Amino acid sequence: MEFIDTHCHLDAAEYAADRDAVVQAARDAGVSQIVVPAIGRENFGVVADLDLRYPGCHHALGIHPMVVDRAQDSDIAELDAQLALGRAIAVGEIGLDFFVDGYDRVRQEWFFAEQLKLARKYELPVLLHIRRAQDTILKHLRRIPVPGGIAHAFNGSRQQADAFIALGFKLGFGGSLTYPRALRIREHAAKLPLEAIVLETDGPDIPPEFAAGGRNDPGNLPRIAAVLAGLRDLPLGSLAVATTANARTVLARLADLPPCHANR
Ligand SMILES: [Zn+2]
Repeated sequence: MEFIDTHCHLDAAEYAADRDAVVQAARDAGVSQIVVPAIGRENFGVVADLDLRYPGCHHALGIHPMVVDRAQDSDIAELDAQLALGRAIAVGEIGLDFFVDGYDRVRQEWFFAEQLKLARKYELPVLLHIRRAQDTILKHLRRIPVPGGIAHAFNGSRQQADAFIALGFKLGFGGSLTYPRALRIREHAAKLPLEAIVLETDGPDIPPEFAAGGRNDPGNLPRIAAVLAGLRDLPLGSLAVATTANARTVLARLADLPPCHANR
């Protein structure tokens, strides 16, 4: 069985001591490709280096909404220059986060719009971080169309889900769906069209219930997928095939890059 983790911060300090083992464990569990988004200029080089170090790991480049307060306007030009190298598979992690007070919304929206323009320029999909900002994100996407992408850790309404799908997006589901109290996420995971769903861990964050309180590793993905398969009453193998194909459809460059299978 083959799985793709469409969102894992493999460069995070939490993995510093045992990153090689974390990647190997993911491979052994059937995770053949891992998408590693950047969060800002300071880790563009780090995530790009992970591609070279770990076959099957592929990076995206972007400026996360929670770091725009310390980002410089010139970071957009640097992002442009890095994307021009043609190695990143997506623009991300970008988006809007209106959940935490004290962040400058105008600045967030400026960085978001500028990065959508870059995604359009390089014909790349986007990896979206969205908190309390679904409709504002959709407004920007209608104004600056991009070649689809993933609404990561999706937690909006069904109507908002349908709006993202209509714009060519897939919706990312991960460890949250393993918690019985996550009613809305589990409802979406069970009922949204299968062709709209991709899997992600968001490691090292959002550990699933079976690893609650600990670090979340990309090797957890198949067990998260098993919970989703149960919610949809589908064999795990069918869910793996469908979500892997969905990831390669929306992140088209993944389909051209070699996956990494266990023991290789
Ligand atoms: Zn993330």
